[in-house]
Amino acid sequence: MAGVPVTEPARALVRDVLAPDAVGRTVRLRGWVQRTRSSGGILFTLLRDRTGSLQVTARRDALGDAAFESAEHVQVEGVIEVTGTVAEDKRAPGGREVRAAAIGVIDAGEPFPIFADQTEEYRLDQRHLVVRSEELASVFRIKADILRILREFLDEEEVLEVTPPIITGNPAEGGAEAFTFDYFGRTGYLSQSAQLYLEAMLAPHERVYALTPSFRAEKSRTPRHLTEYMHLEVELAWVGLDELLAFIERMFARVVHRIAELRGKELRALGREPAELQGIQTPFRRMSYADAITTLQGQGFSVSWGSDLGTAEERALTLESSQPLFVTHFPAELKAFYMLRSPSDPRTVEAADLLGPEGFGEIVGSSCRETDLARLTERVRATGADPASYTWYLDLRRHGNVPHAGFGLGIERLVRWITRREHIRDTTPFPRTPSRHTP
Ligand code: ATP
Ligand code: MG
Repeated sequence: MAGVPVTEPARALVRDVLAPDAVGRTVRLRGWVQRTRSSGGILFTLLRDRTGSLQVTARRDALGDAAFESAEHVQVEGVIEVTGTVAEDKRAPGGREVRAAAIGVIDAGEPFPIFADQTEEYRLDQRHLVVRSEELASVFRIKADILRILREFLDEEEVLEVTPPIITGNPAEGGAEAFTFDYFGRTGYLSQSAQLYLEAMLAPHERVYALTPSFRAEKSRTPRHLTEYMHLEVELAWVGLDELLAFIERMFARVVHRIAELRGKELRALGREPAELQGIQTPFRRMSYADAITTLQGQGFSVSWGSDLGTAEERALTLESSQPLFVTHFPAELKAFYMLRSPSDPRTVEAADLLGPEGFGEIVGSSCRETDLARLTERVRATGADPASYTWYLDLRRHGNVPHAGFGLGIERLVRWITRREHIRDTTPFPRTPSRHTP
């Protein structure tokens, strides 16, 4: 049909070309060149758009010399527009190809500086280009799904989304890990947690959540800490520890089951079998901190009641398990000032950390909150802080004070477990760590 003027078809996507009835259709595609080679007067180009990638072939005699040569010189990540016919081709990825009648060059591009076997540091410097990799693109699609599923779940559970501040006047989790900055001559703190503000929003709404960045000036470099991360925090009135944990496990199971249904192909490519996500079963096992210490001692760890559970200890507790684990009732001294003392053992708090399977470590931190004003004030003082700087928070215990509980979930920790990434930085497009805040 070369030379016959056709009405230009609307832009098609790669997924349209792969549709069952597409063979024989004329399509117009736009996308980025993943690779290109020519041999014997035929050009083979792998074209990518937001729905996938596809082989385009073009014959020199169909395109004409000038158009063929300009298409041949398009760099990796250059952009082209192709008009052509969909054909079956067993050898092509996806079993289809587009035979081009015309190729227009939108951006020929400069030589793309990313290729195999470059150092991790170099790749982090080039992160603005590396985010196009298939691996990261899959992770961020899954991350977007996770955020959507979480919001859907919270909406069904009648938990209201609210928008707490990021700029704050006190550190919520203690000063050592707070980023400070000059706020018109006073000290400002970047939010480490929205929890105190969520508690303030409880009285009218009873069930609230926030999905915001949290900032932690974590000096240690670990594969599970970022200095900026997305934090889902939920606060529920009238809820005790059992109901809180039931809520968390229901939410966790919902997310992993849905992701397994939606993203099987991407998960497999990332090294996670969807069946492992499907196999997550509620209720999750619960183990008290005291039993965790006994278990760890049995494994040869030199820990005793009062020891914090570090990475190695958390890892050991679920290493042999394909299921998550709640560790409950930590010593009060190890946890934040606002946690409620256990009625059964006042040395401990009504709190639980959710540890991921396979030795993954903490994904969620949760607790019931102290409602007694005197005890709460005492606990603030015990941290070394001046209760005067928590006046507004303490005030909440004076007006319509009800039992409540909540949790914080690190989105990147959840994404890291689901997508089986070795390092948390590969769960966020532009990771912030102690050694890097660019690009
Ligand atoms: P960890 O002991 O692993 O540092 P934490 O006890 O300091 O965690 P919380 O203060 O309970 O964590 O925060 C709630 C959740 O936020 C954690 O369960 C985790 O999923 C996530 N989180 C905490 N710190 C970070 C961080 N630096 N980077 C990414 N996620 C984090
Ligand atoms: Mg921490």
